Amino acid sequence: MRVEGSWLCPTELDRSRVVDANARVRHIRMVGVGCLGAALVASLPWISNWVLIPLVLTGVNLVTVQRRITRSARPERVSAWAILTTLLTLGVGVALDGGPVSSALPWLVLPAGMSAARFRPKVVITALLLTVAVVLAATLGAHPQLTIKNPVPVLDTLALLGAVTSIVWALQAAELHHRGEAILDPLTGLLNRHALVPRFIELSQQARLTGQPVSLVLCDLDNFKEINDTFGHDRGDAVLRDIAYQLRKHLRSFELIYRLGGEEFLILLPGMHRAAATDIAERLRRVIEKVQPTGVRTTVSLGVSTGRGEEVDYEALFKAADEAMYEAKRSGRNRVVTASASPREAEFEQAGLLDDAPAQVPVAAVI
Ligand code: GH3
Ligand code: MG
Ligand code: MG
Repeated sequence: MRVEGSWLCPTELDRSRVVDANARVRHIRMVGVGCLGAALVASLPWISNWVLIPLVLTGVNLVTVQRRITRSARPERVSAWAILTTLLTLGVGVALDGGPVSSALPWLVLPAGMSAARFRPKVVITALLLTVAVVLAATLGAHPQLTIKNPVPVLDTLALLGAVTSIVWALQAAELHHRGEAILDPLTGLLNRHALVPRFIELSQQARLTGQPVSLVLCDLDNFKEINDTFGHDRGDAVLRDIAYQLRKHLRSFELIYRLGGEEFLILLPGMHRAAATDIAERLRRVIEKVQPTGVRTTVSLGVSTGRGEEVDYEALFKAADEAMYEAKRSGRNRVVTASASPREAEFEQAGLLDDAPAQVPVAAVI
């Protein structure tokens, strides 16, 4: 079942970022826990036994969080809860260990840093404020005289908190920015929208010079939400990967396929006239109907549009293919609808001048 957005993660993208960040740091997290454990063992002769309990709890929390995240429908809650409990257990440990004189005081910076690597700014600011409150409660609240006598450790910890959180935050923002610039879709390995734009500009310039046609096929999985709801999101992802693989496998190298997002793919067919593009779309439809990715019966609806020479304009071709695809959905799904011929394409069709296109798809590819 898909889950609604929440304050922690208003969108599915926010949620997938949390899951992704947790998965990426799962090995490093073990290094962190190992460091914490080694420091604890080395410090045993000098620290009170009380402080051991919360620190060990923190370790257990960090070691088990990944398993709980992968099992939960609300992974962001599990992650936030792990961060919050880490903060609180560390806070208790610090308070029991002498507050401002506790050597564990700087560890309180860790949970806010963890939140900055996963969550949106509002959540990070809340984590930051909460951490300030816990630092003050564990020091000034629990040991007012000690803290007033020497406030330097508390001030140092608060400075460290601001510095570490802002650095992690900036690094995370840079990482997301670079991912936005990436041209490969991480789920399917196909090219994404970012790669489409420059390629289309090249193709339209070529088409203007040569008068050649360019066709565009828009392909949307039918009732994909049902697949997600019935078999789970992971299985939905596997279906998407399989479909992408099948589409790629049944296209030739100069026929380019892009994942536009969600369960929508776009195929660019340079030099391909309308009838040939329709033929390819129909063959792809049959391939997908037959393969049953991960054992799930899946079909696609496809919309085809073609422009020639000056008509090769992305907005116009996309709009025509999109309308054709929705017509395919309206008329029952699992079908191809081709947009009506553009003026130049109609001229060529009427004159029977369509032999210039590479119209054949290898037959073996669709058997
Ligand atoms: P239709 O036949 O009208 O296209 O119906 P549909 O259910 O395919 O269309 P709709 O747009 O309502 O649902 C698309 C679903 O695809 C909803 C969304 O949650 C899901 N989805 C989008 N991206 C991903 C993804 O990366 N992985 C998975 N598993 N699901 C995704
Ligand atoms: Mg769909
Ligand atoms: Mg869709």
